[in-house]
Amino acid sequence: MKNIQANLFWVLLVFLAVGMVYPVIGLLALTCMLAPIIVAPFKGRYWCGNFCPRGSFYDNVIAKISPKKPIPKFFRSNGFRGFMVMFIMGVFGVQMYYAWGNLSAMGAVFVRIILLTTIVGIVLGIAYHQRTWCSFCPMGTLASWLSAKSKPKPLKVESSCVNCKLCTNVCPLQLSPYTAKASTEGFTHSDCLKCSRCIEKCPKKALAY
Ligand code: SF4
Ligand code: SF4
Repeated sequence: MKNIQANLFWVLLVFLAVGMVYPVIGLLALTCMLAPIIVAPFKGRYWCGNFCPRGSFYDNVIAKISPKKPIPKFFRSNGFRGFMVMFIMGVFGVQMYYAWGNLSAMGAVFVRIILLTTIVGIVLGIAYHQRTWCSFCPMGTLASWLSAKSKPKPLKVESSCVNCKLCTNVCPLQLSPYTAKASTEGFTHSDCLKCSRCIEKCPKKALAY
């Protein structure tokens, strides 16, 4: 699984390169828009953490040049995330209205939006942290809201945890699973990408699903 995630960024790069010449392939992006939402009620943001090509791009390419500063709290706020959902969906809807019926023009809408938002994500990744975009990505936000409602399997935090915070250091969204140490229901944060990085990093093997 890790090897797949580490190479999925090629899908994004090929998609954008081919999409510039043959925009009709942009319609394939519908898969990546719907998948996070379909998966969310069962496994939270699992798609974002394991199968999203753009997430892979940020984790495996931008991470190499990111200063890994704290992601600004503003980007995680419900107000900003709600605004981004409406803004991106509004832009998408208007462009799709004018392109409707022309497959090439419809595909070009996807290619344009994905290119522009990826550039925004790269700038934020270089300014703050590689996954800053993912803290307010509209599809990730919708998946997070669905996840908050359905409460998929949480991370369990054993009492052997020594609060070393290595889990937070390695978490792509800078979440803090160790804070659920005393909780019987475990770490239920709806933005958890289910990437298992914290489980692998924990020196006390205190984390598990
Ligand atoms: S890495 Fe493990 S031991 Fe360290 S704070 Fe996180 S859960 Fe606790
Ligand atoms: S809390 Fe653990 S599983 Fe969830 S996103 Fe962070 S590192 Fe991945």
